[in-house]
Amino acid sequence: MDKVRDHFIDGADVKPGSGAYVQSFNPCKGTPEANIARGNAADVDKAVTAAVAAFPDWRRRRPIERGRVLMKLAEKIREKISELAAIESAETGKPLWQSPLEIEVAAQYFEFYAGLVNLPEGEKVGLGGGYHSYTVHEPYGAVGIITPWNAPLNQGARGIAPALAAGNTVVAKPSEFTSSTTLAVAKMAVEECGMPPGVFNVVLGEGPEAGAALVAHKSIRKVAFTGSVRAGREIGKIAAERIIPLTLELGGKSPNIVFEDATLADAVPGSIRAFVLNAGQVCLAGTRLLVQKSIHDAFVDQLVAGLGQIKVGPQQDAMVGPLTTRDQLERVHGFFDLAASEGAIAATGGHKNRDPEWGDGWFVPPTVYTNVTNDMRIAREEVFGPVLVVIPFEDEADAIRIANDTEYGLAAGIWSNDLGRAHRVAAELEAGQIYVNEYQAGGVETPLGGFKNSGYGREKGVEALKNYTHTKSVTIKL
Ligand code: NAD
Repeated sequence: MDKVRDHFIDGADVKPGSGAYVQSFNPCKGTPEANIARGNAADVDKAVTAAVAAFPDWRRRRPIERGRVLMKLAEKIREKISELAAIESAETGKPLWQSPLEIEVAAQYFEFYAGLVNLPEGEKVGLGGGYHSYTVHEPYGAVGIITPWNAPLNQGARGIAPALAAGNTVVAKPSEFTSSTTLAVAKMAVEECGMPPGVFNVVLGEGPEAGAALVAHKSIRKVAFTGSVRAGREIGKIAAERIIPLTLELGGKSPNIVFEDATLADAVPGSIRAFVLNAGQVCLAGTRLLVQKSIHDAFVDQLVAGLGQIKVGPQQDAMVGPLTTRDQLERVHGFFDLAASEGAIAATGGHKNRDPEWGDGWFVPPTVYTNVTNDMRIAREEVFGPVLVVIPFEDEADAIRIANDTEYGLAAGIWSNDLGRAHRVAAELEAGQIYVNEYQAGGVETPLGGFKNSGYGREKGVEALKNYTHTKSVTIKL
């Protein structure tokens, strides 16, 4: 292993001041992958200083000039999609068919926000009485963007693109397990797309050290965080102390509701994809399957049969790859023990047996638990692995009650051919994204964010631009 990843600050590679590195791993093999700079507060200070210095020029540029740079970056990402996908697969374990799809979405974020650079325009305020009053939406300045390991470039681009489009400069802190693609794209932006040095910086390292230092830095004017509730709370405390705005995109335990009138030929594979994609390491994953009692047993049989057809392993055409970290493997194994102790029954999976083809990779079998009630921990806690609980319900009201009986509120699925019911249930669900008859439908255009412990603020879509500007009013006595 000779891959070394240093910070990218002010358009140049910068070694960690401490000289320390942390190791990332290849989850398919369990072997070391790269040495990642272990950033500290002094490294973060360098990056923020560069971002602050680059801000006045970047914000004053004509918006279409900023848009041109972002559009060029989208094109470059597409040109290098195979290269970026290979890096992302090596670090996350994602099968090779999957990574290009996610990298393509990252390109779309830059493309989409490149087209919206003129949108944060103000309005005339109807004050009358001899006054001219108007609003302008201005960028904050240097913005910190902290992201997790499950969809590294996709989630990085989701915050970085609107922040830059609105005229902010960025210091990104990707996960220490999966830093390389965010780093590669920042370099591409400066070296190949005409982005001025200092506009897009990347600091590497661990959350409590580099991440916390970024949030605490006196010149960071706004933070967008995607990750766990635990870290979100820590960051929230620092942001509250500093009185800076924060977007929190946190975890979920999302209900996926199948009514008896649904088309089962769609609902069964759709419900499988909802919890096995990316080995279940998806914040939006539909991991609480609520099935109407009249079809419950038949549905579970079809689900288990469908899962029997799914390939799990290091093969690049496998549907399900490994968990991305060894800790996550142990955590999911811990949930298998917990579910058994709570009396849940594994209709499939739920064991620690290893397929010989898995080698030393961090794989687990897709798992479906029945005999589950919504008050059990296996039904309440986010596992972040391919683990599903199935809970029967009586009628529409019962489905809504169970679906909302959770501390999370990120996403929810509804499968039904009754349009009135789909709208009624969508209106009652406490979740930021609702899908009807296709789980995880939507695109870069669709706003995303949490209710309850799943967070606050919205990413994606036109709405996200509001996260990256604040409003100023100007009133002139005529
Ligand atoms: P994590 O919270 O451990 O880490 C996320 C990022 O925050 C990493 O870059 C990490 O280094 C950093 N970090 C950790 N502790 C920190 C601290 N005290 N201060 C500052 N930074 C800190 O999360 P993870 O394990 O990488 O990711 C999994 C979690 O992310 C799951 O809960 C998942 O649901 C959530 N997630 C949410 C979304 C969403 O859009 N809502 C998307 C993907 C993942």
